[in-house]
Amino acid sequence: MVFARSTGSFSRIARTAALYLVIGVFLNVAVAWWSLNTSPRGIPLSGIHAVKPEWPRPAPIGWPACYHAVLSETASHEEMWAYSTPGTDHEMRTIACGRPFRSFGAWSFDQNDGKGERWSHLLETGVTLDRDQVRLPWHPLWPGFFLNTVLFGTASWALMQVPAAMLRRSRLNRGCCTNCNYNLAGLASNVSCPECGLPRMGKPNKRPT
Ligand SMILES: [Zn+2]
Repeated sequence: MVFARSTGSFSRIARTAALYLVIGVFLNVAVAWWSLNTSPRGIPLSGIHAVKPEWPRPAPIGWPACYHAVLSETASHEEMWAYSTPGTDHEMRTIACGRPFRSFGAWSFDQNDGKGERWSHLLETGVTLDRDQVRLPWHPLWPGFFLNTVLFGTASWALMQVPAAMLRRSRLNRGCCTNCNYNLAGLASNVSCPECGLPRMGKPNKRPT
């Protein structure tokens, strides 16, 4: 009996956790993309810094060494431009966005094809990625993706506890089942709900310790 009840509550907790993790993923995506596309671009809050000249991602075969790299950071995202030479024959650009942790990224590898201003995008990981705009990076960055998901999922669960507790309290006060709202009038106080089987008074009240 105790085992059956603990198994049931475990699966309920697992379902709830899965639901709020999914909600956490949606909020994670929404916050990262919203903050990226609504924050001022080109006005870094913490400045543009030259960083040590290394390609931010593994370079394609045949690329020369990185010559110069610049990092631009704002509250919502950071971008890095890295070049092979001052003439930028090869350019790698990465962007990371998300709050409070960087959770999504995109990058492009550009190589001068020797015909003036034309550039080749060898790899793209954002919905719109060109030399000036990166709108929706979708590549998850770890551990930021995980941390944001857990954070947003936990916050939404905590928020939802308030109306759920109010609903349970209201049903209890009306003499109804706190789970399914079945009217329990006339039933003994130790009888489970005939509709859903929830032990009466079991959920909303604090158990004696
Ligand atoms: Zn019920």
